Amino acid sequence: MSTKKDYYELLGVAKDAGEDEIKKAYRKLARTYHPDLNPENKEEAEERFKEVSEAYEVLMDKDKRARYDQYGHEGVYSNGAGGFQWSDFTHYSDIEDLFGGLGGTIFDMFFGGGRGGSRRRGPQKGADLRYDLSVTLHQAFEGLEKSLTLEKSVTCPECGGSRAKKGTSPRTCPQCHGTGQMQSVRNTPFGQFASVSPCSMCSGTGQFIEEPCPACRGRGAVRGKRKIDVRIPAGIDDGAHIRVSGEGNPSPSGGPQGDLYVVVHVEQDPRFYREGTEVVHERHISYPQAALGDEITVETIDGKVKMRIPSGTQHGAVLRLRGKGMPDMRTGRRGDQHVKVLVDVPTSLTDEQRGLLEQLAASFGDSPEPGSKQSKKKKKKGILDSLGL
Ligand SMILES: [Zn+2]
Ligand SMILES: [Zn+2]
Repeated sequence: MSTKKDYYELLGVAKDAGEDEIKKAYRKLARTYHPDLNPENKEEAEERFKEVSEAYEVLMDKDKRARYDQYGHEGVYSNGAGGFQWSDFTHYSDIEDLFGGLGGTIFDMFFGGGRGGSRRRGPQKGADLRYDLSVTLHQAFEGLEKSLTLEKSVTCPECGGSRAKKGTSPRTCPQCHGTGQMQSVRNTPFGQFASVSPCSMCSGTGQFIEEPCPACRGRGAVRGKRKIDVRIPAGIDDGAHIRVSGEGNPSPSGGPQGDLYVVVHVEQDPRFYREGTEVVHERHISYPQAALGDEITVETIDGKVKMRIPSGTQHGAVLRLRGKGMPDMRTGRRGDQHVKVLVDVPTSLTDEQRGLLEQLAASFGDSPEPGSKQSKKKKKKGILDSLGL
């Protein structure tokens, strides 16, 4: 890296040169060193052309330029050893932009495409986006249509995503001659090794833009608002995602658009605990209702229904309401609602109720008195306490 030349020197501009000045200097040098115009010393011209193009890309990007000014060449390489990749530059500021928008609900996911990682041959796919959407349990039950307004990267209307200034068009890349690939041969003690990688000058697109579109600064994309209609199917589970094909970011190199992933968060409903298509609901009943049986009204996800409590229902018993759970996202078939019965023990009694309960206790023959099971238990507990157990 130390052998790299100073970007300002390469372009022959001052450290405080403005964008126009840099553009002008680059245009002049690009014409001088364009390999197609230098057939007699093509290789050298190509090398120079690459150098000035790299300098131009860095100095025209505010962030990159600031880092270059502060840290030199090292500052503009994300991963030290990596060679110059055009795609790194075109992508970077888009991602920065996104983090600012919509209160952090939308951000880059780097699914497949995007920068870094597995760079495929040919134009890259645009970055995928993620949008987090909260719905109530009832909305998840019914399903819903939602219109999202996203502030995101959209194809530049000025150049239609071609990245070239209006009236000009991208040219065949002089480094790879339009193939988008570079073959390099390494000599090692074990022999020659040839490897193919995407062309560093055009990021594998095979095209080179001499005059970038001024509206998008050669990115092919600008910030814009986009309305997207999403259908959330009935029965959607918390954390499920819906892919909206082609609604991610535009490709930085003329490839397909990325996708939008809508990640659905189903809010908790204090009345229902959900597990897939099954729903659990707790219902309090009185002691007489449990003992004698009753018909009660129970809340379900789609309204109240009547349910029979059989006589002799125990505390904690689970009764089933068939087909009253959540629908299955694919088949629409509904699961069950499980009603967990909680028998309430009264905490305050009227004199009349107390009298009745005492009568009941007497009829069961279990009124607490000295020598009864309960007081024996108490005694035992007292001994255990004194032993510190
Ligand atoms: Zn444009
Ligand atoms: Zn190329």
